[in-house]
Amino acid sequence: MVDESLFADVKKKIPGSSMPDTKTDGRQPMSQKTDLRELTLEQLRAFLAGLGKEGFRAKQLMRWMYCRGVSDFSCMTDLSKEFRAELEQRATISNWHPETVETSIDGTRKYLFRLADGETIESVRIPMEGGRATLCISTQVGCAMGCRFCLTGCFGLTRNLTPGEIVNQVCAAQTDGKVNNIVMMGMGEPLHNLENVITALRILYAEEGLDFGPRRVTLSTSGLVPQMLELGSRVRVGLAVSLNATTDEVRDRIMPINQTYPLAELMRACRAFPLQSRDRITFEYILIRGVNDSLRDAKRLVGLLHGIQAKVNLIAYNEHYGSEFKSPTERDIEAFQRILLHSGMVAVRRASKGRDISAACGQLKGRLDKSRSREEQDHS
Ligand code: SAH
Ligand code: SF4
Repeated sequence: MVDESLFADVKKKIPGSSMPDTKTDGRQPMSQKTDLRELTLEQLRAFLAGLGKEGFRAKQLMRWMYCRGVSDFSCMTDLSKEFRAELEQRATISNWHPETVETSIDGTRKYLFRLADGETIESVRIPMEGGRATLCISTQVGCAMGCRFCLTGCFGLTRNLTPGEIVNQVCAAQTDGKVNNIVMMGMGEPLHNLENVITALRILYAEEGLDFGPRRVTLSTSGLVPQMLELGSRVRVGLAVSLNATTDEVRDRIMPINQTYPLAELMRACRAFPLQSRDRITFEYILIRGVNDSLRDAKRLVGLLHGIQAKVNLIAYNEHYGSEFKSPTERDIEAFQRILLHSGMVAVRRASKGRDISAACGQLKGRLDKSRSREEQDHS
């Protein structure tokens, strides 16, 4: 059960953000046509009802779009010619191709997509054991949260992605090989774009479409407490929380969102988050040398997570030009992990893959914008 009192502070302001939740996306004013990629099954049904079409047509269209990967109405041969012509008039199905694809020596692939308004986002395909693949997708262009260690955070928020822009990253990557799992851990804070993210999840879950079960999708948040609880009450999804500190003093400093939702509130929300019996909340903990990697931090972390069905992902801080922080030593990481394991916790070390192509955690978009600003300087 979700503790409703936790919604009380829903109006608290998110630091660095003056943008409302859903109006900052890139929906196209230039075209009056409806992009069917933006619609859940229910919404598609309503759209088709507006054209006087039967409900079952929605599933039929979903199968064409997502199972067969067809975006051209004229190829949908089991629809009448008149219906196809009407769809042509009223609707469109966006079909993305990456502008560039970079492949790392470890097999990680980074896709860069240019959006209709010229903005760019990135998604990363990460090869996993047994030939499986996880796709890391973006939910915003930039991010308003301003975490001190994160390159995306250095650039601020440009805009929210629409549901279709979130889903299209998956569709485009699927044409390059099967995607088994999705993580919303790319650019942006998914819970700062809650409505569009929930709509995107519903599209990803549709059985007659991409058919991702909720256990195959994980959403990572820096800890927007009211939105976390709202998410839990509306849709099922794996939850990951970027914790990264064990005291308010340190978390306030490296993650400004903590000044709005301090650790005690965040942990209370995690305890209230609805979980199925086999599910766990993943806590991501970036180890930054001399900031949050001491043995006292490890012990405090054990205390903080007491009683939560938790799994800890330990990630060595990935150094980049946007910050002075340093990675910890191997010995420090091992010692930190040992304390967690000895106390009976599930604690996994996560390697940052795709470093050579700037696809590792917190690096997305960074290199592109850096080279762009260099170009701008060159041209000035
Ligand atoms: N905004 C969400 C999801 C995107 S960030 C969130 O913060 O959870 C995805 C992950 O990358 C987060 O766990 C974040 O802590 C991590 N990250 C950001 N910068 C990093 C860096 N320089 N090194 C290692 N991990 C980093
Ligand atoms: Fe945003 Fe996540 Fe980066 Fe923080 S870590 S700035 S919330 S993308």
